Amino acid sequence: MEKRVRVRFAPSPTGGLHMGGVRTALFNYLFAKKHGGDFILRIEDTDQTRYVKGAEDYIIAALKWCGIEPNEGVGFGDGPYKPYRQSERKASGLYKNYADKLIAGGHAYYAFDTSEELDEMRKRLEAAKVAAPQYNSVSRQNMRNSLTLSEDEVKKLIESGTPYVIRLKVPRNEEIRFHDIIRGWVVVNSTQVDDKVLLKSDGMPTYHLAHIVDDIEMKISHAVRGEEWLPSAPAHILIYRYLGLESDMPLLAHLPLILKPDGNGKLSKRDKSGLPMFPLDWHDERTGESYVGYRESGFTADAFINMLALLGWNPGDTREIMPMSELIESFSFERVNKSGAKFDPEKTKWFNQQYLRKRSDAELAESFAPILESKGHKAGLPAGEAGKVFLTEFCRLIKEKAHFINEFYDLGSYFFVAPNSYDEKVISKKWNENSKALYTKLNEKFSAASEWSIDSVTKLFHEAETELGKLDMQLVRVLVTGVSGGPQLMDMLALLGKTEVTNRISAALTVLK
Ligand code: GLU
Repeated sequence: MEKRVRVRFAPSPTGGLHMGGVRTALFNYLFAKKHGGDFILRIEDTDQTRYVKGAEDYIIAALKWCGIEPNEGVGFGDGPYKPYRQSERKASGLYKNYADKLIAGGHAYYAFDTSEELDEMRKRLEAAKVAAPQYNSVSRQNMRNSLTLSEDEVKKLIESGTPYVIRLKVPRNEEIRFHDIIRGWVVVNSTQVDDKVLLKSDGMPTYHLAHIVDDIEMKISHAVRGEEWLPSAPAHILIYRYLGLESDMPLLAHLPLILKPDGNGKLSKRDKSGLPMFPLDWHDERTGESYVGYRESGFTADAFINMLALLGWNPGDTREIMPMSELIESFSFERVNKSGAKFDPEKTKWFNQQYLRKRSDAELAESFAPILESKGHKAGLPAGEAGKVFLTEFCRLIKEKAHFINEFYDLGSYFFVAPNSYDEKVISKKWNENSKALYTKLNEKFSAASEWSIDSVTKLFHEAETELGKLDMQLVRVLVTGVSGGPQLMDMLALLGKTEVTNRISAALTVLK
């Protein structure tokens, strides 16, 4: 029988969740949803020395903003396999039991080496020109562990409270084969695998043991994670094998790296491409570093998610704009690439623009209202419904020019504040001795208008031209807004309203000689 699809996102709370982590969560989520399965958030906090306050809350808030909501796990409700924080799971002796099983089977051992002794070992191996010094089937023979010490000595050391770790006993020169859904068959010689620590001296399991125990206990069907875990996978295979659980282990999928925009190496959280690396603003209390988020930079979650989904995956056709429901529908691991995916800042902005254009003007107006308020211009708006109508029309006119909603204000601030200067280039080129009289007459016509809409202003303008001679649209724009570019002139005039337009033209005519 096929296993029910159960996948997990298992971050360690060692910092804010960067966009690579969000992509891992996303691919897990898409796969779970596609197959009607479960998506679990497990917090892997066994390394207490790297614990960062606020990281867990950040991870939860980020997943919520992205719309990648687990149906079980920390912050999202208990399921049958609670608790979902490894530090809490440890209390039941769960991890220790598995480690003891490995010891009993002769596949793990106690090691009593102090950090000085481990240092010495490393130096010795380096001096002997060993390429990758590690604790393994060769070097362990010269160390203090239950394979080199007598049974009595080991017992005494443990009873006297000497700190120890439990290590995996990796065999010498054995071929380890495993299958990865994205990469196919992978073969590694065990000589390349070190005797990984499974249980630390503080009794905490390491990631290697803990995630295996939890994946088994939580009935995980697929372990989907970043490529950086691929080198550890052979050791994990051995652990499953020695526990007699190889047939129950989850299928593995290692996602490709996200690369810097120039393709030169892994994208780092300190990338200088100018775009955020984190979904939300993140402040690391330990290092004092602060990072700007996508959300705070004016990206919408749907654009961010759509962009991330296409970093290393494609739907098999030319579609690019795909909302979450479509991503779920189309997702499969077959179309996840093996090779790294280049992060493209321009494309990322493009996605935001596309989603911006898809939003209704009324929705945009709602999002823009607080931004406008923060600029202190709410008072200038008509009250109530009329204000809403004004902002909705403003958004319709401005959105074509913008990538982000927080650009709206700078692109159209003249809708809220009258200009106090006039584009010099346009004025010096187009303003002449006849202009003042000509535009005074135009303004008189505007003032006399009985109706003020896009159509009526357009009509009025053409009538004025027939009567007065050629008018310069760009000049009219500069008189009203101060700047030379913007939305369609008639749309802009109609929205500003007759009184505002005529007042502004009069003001300009007193300034321009
Ligand atoms: N705790 C690991 C991490 O932070 C999870 C790796 C996995 O998914 O197995 O990346």
